Amino acid sequence: MATNKNIPEVEWEYAPSLEGTSHIQLKKKYDLFIGGKWVKPSSGKYFQSINPANEEVLAEVAYGSEKDVDIAVKAARKAYNEVWSIMPAAERAKYIYRIARLMQERARELAVIETLDGGKTIREARDIDVPLACNHFFYYAGWADKLEYAFPNRKVESLGVAGQIIPWNFPLLMAAWKIAPALAAGNTVVLKPAETTSLTALKLAEIIEAAGLPAGVVNIVTGYGDTGAAIVNHSDVNKIAFTGSTNVGKIIQKALAGTSKKLTLELGGKSANIIFDDAPIDQAVEGIVNGIFFNQGHVCCAGSRLFVQENVAEKVIAKLKERLKTLYVGNPLDKNTDIGAINSKEQLATITKYLEIGKQEGAEMYQPACTIPAKGFYCPPTLFTNVAQSNRIAQEEIFGPVLTIQTFRTIDEVIQKANNSPYGLAAGVWTEKGARIFNMANQLNAGVIWANTYNKFDPTSPFGGYKESGFGREGGVHGLAAYVKFV
Ligand code: NAP
Ligand code: MG
Repeated sequence: MATNKNIPEVEWEYAPSLEGTSHIQLKKKYDLFIGGKWVKPSSGKYFQSINPANEEVLAEVAYGSEKDVDIAVKAARKAYNEVWSIMPAAERAKYIYRIARLMQERARELAVIETLDGGKTIREARDIDVPLACNHFFYYAGWADKLEYAFPNRKVESLGVAGQIIPWNFPLLMAAWKIAPALAAGNTVVLKPAETTSLTALKLAEIIEAAGLPAGVVNIVTGYGDTGAAIVNHSDVNKIAFTGSTNVGKIIQKALAGTSKKLTLELGGKSANIIFDDAPIDQAVEGIVNGIFFNQGHVCCAGSRLFVQENVAEKVIAKLKERLKTLYVGNPLDKNTDIGAINSKEQLATITKYLEIGKQEGAEMYQPACTIPAKGFYCPPTLFTNVAQSNRIAQEEIFGPVLTIQTFRTIDEVIQKANNSPYGLAAGVWTEKGARIFNMANQLNAGVIWANTYNKFDPTSPFGGYKESGFGREGGVHGLAAYVKFV
């Protein structure tokens, strides 16, 4: 950062700007949302959902067992056969629009609950998660009665009951990515949120109830991994859509082998962010920060591997270190906060383990001095330089605010290094030359490639991976295709 020698450097703080929570209505205990009703779990068991920013309990959430999943699938099947699959498509669209509008009306409440339950900054929940989630419902509502235009000259039919399992990093947004296209194409749904972040999916269930959606069209069954497995293995489910870790994705793929169930998997990533020497360096530094440090690195497509052209590496790293010093780590409800809470104690332990591995592998670690709240789960932004391609910190998904930095000289070298990963979810390319961007986009094995920007999303644009990042696309017409069969 350029400093004016005439002005003494001063440390200054922003005044806290806390988002209010008084308008939030959370029940003490949440039951399962099945067949349009709130029903008690057959096991009678509930688990706690905590706020990872201060470890306080927010609510108790029902544990849905195999038996409850079976009841939910039966409710979804009944709704599919008797109501949803035979309803005129324009009528289906009206319900989906209604859900979108009700979400917009309750946007502030949804954003605050997302922040409380998951630890992400209110800035992100308010400006990214919730508006994008609403837009997915608006976008797919528009397709519901236009399927013949989405797939010209093809006759399509809905699949039936979709089982959907989502992770904790974008809880409401992932629910929207899953539910909106499924409903638009005429399917009914059983969805399981991640156990640490069930609350916005349950709020969405309240919205769905308020929208008057016919009973059983959307069912929300909260629980643990075995609840997800019960959905996967249920014999009357026609499609599984899973977003989560590559390990669980592999278990699901094995479980479905030889069945007629359709499957889409959105899995992990280790995405490359590539800075050429002709890039606008200040913007690129912002892009790097946006790519990995905002949202605590809890982004499947996070730009977690930075490749910088050698002749500008020193400059980029120096600017990046200066920028890191200005990042606020702390209370996610404060609008000044850049890096909120890590989602869970377990995830913080995983990140901490990788910081140790990085040091043992001989990489050099940099963290700016920053104060971290005494309670809750936090990790300062972390850079690793002197990283080898074979290092575990450069190969494995850490899912935290941790960036590895490597340098390159030529285009061929960086393409080879970037593609040398079991994953292939996303990549960023920073350069002034359009032809180079197209060349890179052709050669990088990644589902999404951003040019001179990072982490930009739109409901019209498909998203998904290559290799161990999964298969199938969500968003756009491609996302709709995953919920129909061509007859
Ligand atoms: P995870 O452990 O795989 O969990 C994902 C979901 O699957 C959770 O709801 C989980 O329930 C459930 N689950 C666990 N075991 C299961 C089983 N055997 N069968 C069926 N469901 C099961 O992943 P995570 O740690 O929550 O999420 C982080 C991962 O998601 C990262 O790898 C990230 O890259 C990936 N991700 C990918 C995308 C993408 O679009 N490609 C987007 C976001 C995140 P519990 O919560 O109860 O364990
Ligand atoms: Mg929580």
